[in-house]
Amino acid sequence: MKRTVNGNELLTRLGKGPVICAEGYLFELERRGYLQAGAYVPEVVLEHPELVEQLHREFVHAGSDVVEAFTYYAHRQKLRVIGREQDLEPMNRAALRIARKVARDTGTLLAGNICNTTIYDPKDAATVKAVRAMFEEQVGWAVDAGVDFIIGETFAYAEEARLALEVIKQAGRTAVITLASHKNVTREGLAWPDAARRLEQAGADVVGLNCTRGPATMLPLLRQIRKAVKCHVAALPVPYRTTRQRPSFQSLTDHACGCLPGGHAFPVALDPFTCNRFEIAEFAAKAYGIGVRYLGVCCGAGAHHVRALAEAVGKHPPAARYSADMAKHYLFGRTNLGKTGRQKAEDRRFAKAIVG
Ligand SMILES: [Zn+2]
Repeated sequence: MKRTVNGNELLTRLGKGPVICAEGYLFELERRGYLQAGAYVPEVVLEHPELVEQLHREFVHAGSDVVEAFTYYAHRQKLRVIGREQDLEPMNRAALRIARKVARDTGTLLAGNICNTTIYDPKDAATVKAVRAMFEEQVGWAVDAGVDFIIGETFAYAEEARLALEVIKQAGRTAVITLASHKNVTREGLAWPDAARRLEQAGADVVGLNCTRGPATMLPLLRQIRKAVKCHVAALPVPYRTTRQRPSFQSLTDHACGCLPGGHAFPVALDPFTCNRFEIAEFAAKAYGIGVRYLGVCCGAGAHHVRALAEAVGKHPPAARYSADMAKHYLFGRTNLGKTGRQKAEDRRFAKAIVG
């Protein structure tokens, strides 16, 4: 495949149509039992690299055009917290190696990844310096791996996002910067469209939102952001039914369940709020309809969500071969092959009885 010079293959593809980027590796590997909620460090990259590779392949099969190296929270601060700082570089390089292999095997784009550092404090110059150093080391490893672009994600501070962007651009890479909109404004008090505009002015190639909000509460902000910037916009919600009163998945409360520690559904008891594939498809069509071309699903995403999203914007991923076809169902479809008239009538009666 011919690649565009200067790592701008992403922009070339966005110029032609939608680009899907599957996210949500932390939640999916936590559910599978290979990663700890709370700490949320991708130790699985070193312990079970084959599972990370497999999940990359599943997401590509489902329609992801991007393989995002699983370096989310594989940064110095997080590794310090779990006492594995010595594994920082091996973990990053291994994640990038795994992602690169899958991207090159499948003709998808390889993305590096950095994220909120958890130590950024705008009033403390020492933390700002430390944050920059954390970004620089991770971006350096991503560049060594030959990434097509770098994602800086889940920033609640617009200024921390700008720092990430600065480091990515200094390394000469295309930058996708997405903010995590927990509240109505950024942590320093900026409206989200203003934050997006600042990032565009600072050189971001794609700006947008990821994580924390579900489709219903992310879409209104996307409309504002789409109007505020000229560059491509990214939208990667969590697949949960957030509401006006509960706009983030951290704020969801499950009144149907009395056994949640602390009463919080976040992060490991969000199951009852999960969007179905039709809701994700509806979101994708609406977001694409307002001009958002970089699309994905974040924490909580399953491969079925990725496929629904891809199909909703006109793509036909390999997994579409197995997309639902209820016409083939023995009760609800038309698979009457070889059945007698009496059997067909009995099936119709039984089908009607069980749907109530
Ligand atoms: Zn997320």
